[in-house]
Amino acid sequence: MSIDFALRSEYATALEELTVPWQAVRPEEPKLRVLNEELAAEFGLDPSVLRTESGIRFLLGNELPEQAKPVAQAYAGHQFGFYAPRLGDGRALLLGELTDVHGRTRDIHLKGSGRTPFARADGFATIGPMLREYLMGEAMHALGIATTRALAVVETGTSVRREAEFFPGAVLARVASSHIRVGTFQYARSTGDEALLEKLADFTIQRHYPQLEGNPKRYEELVEAVATEQAKLLASWMLVGFVHGVMNTDNTSLAGETIDYGPCAFIDDYDPGAVFSSIDHQGRYAFANQPGIALWNLSRFADSLLPLLADDQDAAVEIAEGRVRVFTSVYEAELLAGMRRKLGIADATDAEMGEAARPMLARLEAESVDYHRFFRALAHAARGESAALHALFTGEEGIGEWFQTWLGLSPDGDAMDRVNPVYVPRNHIVDEALVAATEGDFEPFSRLLEVLEHPFEERPGLDRYAAPAPEGSWPHVTYCGT
Ligand code: AMP
Ligand code: MG
Repeated sequence: MSIDFALRSEYATALEELTVPWQAVRPEEPKLRVLNEELAAEFGLDPSVLRTESGIRFLLGNELPEQAKPVAQAYAGHQFGFYAPRLGDGRALLLGELTDVHGRTRDIHLKGSGRTPFARADGFATIGPMLREYLMGEAMHALGIATTRALAVVETGTSVRREAEFFPGAVLARVASSHIRVGTFQYARSTGDEALLEKLADFTIQRHYPQLEGNPKRYEELVEAVATEQAKLLASWMLVGFVHGVMNTDNTSLAGETIDYGPCAFIDDYDPGAVFSSIDHQGRYAFANQPGIALWNLSRFADSLLPLLADDQDAAVEIAEGRVRVFTSVYEAELLAGMRRKLGIADATDAEMGEAARPMLARLEAESVDYHRFFRALAHAARGESAALHALFTGEEGIGEWFQTWLGLSPDGDAMDRVNPVYVPRNHIVDEALVAATEGDFEPFSRLLEVLEHPFEERPGLDRYAAPAPEGSWPHVTYCGT
């Protein structure tokens, strides 16, 4: 008997044209490997119920409430700059929507649930990449960054082939504000059905930007609202040193959440050119390129909305460009405000910030200093202990002159510690945990998850989680998450 969750089908009903009703594969011997009890509680779901056979069948999409209408969503997308007219959920399903205890509507979505009509491969997922998505999402959430979150990972008991090897198959259940992507708009636009495009825009407004409902200029306001959320998101990524890795338009959420964790990573050394994805040969999605790419993706979003902005094409383009432009000003303001907090100098003027932050980043880059250790050491220096900080700069120039300027601004070290994480998911540690889990040992994964749940609180015995990898010993590349 299925559990009676109040699962709704708002998207599937309102935007039927953009969905294909579909059923998840039913594995014979599934094992629940990780359950996000805290997140379950946000939906009033009892973790002990989710751990039962019916609970696991719910998490696999096999036994759903009677009214549920699971669907694969259609979308298009620019992948590495090239347009793919029909991507869609090739191995994913939207189970429907639930309301959380805060009254917010959230999608429940599966990944790895079998081939759909959009499939471009076997339709399955393997345990490593699904656990990686779980871990990265939780780490981002704990850091206060907008993100989708994993509810559970269930192993299917079936082996899945990747290149010449076999791995345990798995299904990820995740929660998101929605799965509406820039690529969803591109797809709707490409149908030539303007009424459908309008319906998608209105649905998006109702779900994410209800303050715009009834506004006669709501579609151009939508462009601006989405650009604003993307700007905030990108600033938060850049401040924390996150590289998404696959910023395709189909991986750009209209809700402004980080979505689709594939070959993503946190930088360790400060390196604007950092690339982790094995498939990003040109470095299109390198660390420092991300804000520019987000802006490009937003322009694709605005393009898709042109028919709704004005009857005249040139006028529509002008409106779109004007609205997208807000990205840059919001991004810069957010970045500056965030850097002020990281440097513990809340009252510094823009000019003082310029004098401190720019040369500081140049020194970090020149000496390949670990970005995260640096800010924690800097907080110690604010409290008068600067030996650890200076030890990070081994070159002749040392830390540089900006340091005295910064000290002169009376930085607040304790405030810095509240925003600069001690623990981020470092690639070599993540990799180690995923390799162990793939071999059946979930201990390192659980421990890492616990560490990352409290990123700002330095705790004894956890030094290795705060340390960069020993030179030359870790994978600099993260393979695309399939
Ligand atoms: P992603 O890289 O996960 O964002 O996926 C890009 C596109 O490829 C989406 O349309 C996916 O549904 C599809 N895709 C990725 N992996 C698979 C797979 N194993 N089976 C079927 N489709 C897939
Ligand atoms: Mg994707």
